[in-house]
Amino acid sequence: MTYDRLVCANCAAPVSEGRCPVCRANRERLQQESPFAGLNPTALIALLAVLIAAVALVAAHQTA
Ligand SMILES: [Zn+2]
Repeated sequence: MTYDRLVCANCAAPVSEGRCPVCRANRERLQQESPFAGLNPTALIALLAVLIAAVALVAAHQTA
C-alpha cells in the first residue's frame, strides 16, 4: 500500500509532501506500518548477493 496518492484532509496537499503537521503525522504512521518501505533497495540487493554466495559456498563444500 502506497501513500503517494493520499490527499491530506487538513491542507488538501499530497500527504507524501508533508506540508502540514497532519501530513507529517500521517506519513510517519504509514511508514511505520510498512517497515520495508524505508528499506534501501541497494541493501536488499546486497543481502540477496550474500545469500547467493552462502548457498554457493555450501554447494561447493558438498561436491568437494
Ligand atoms: Zn496536510
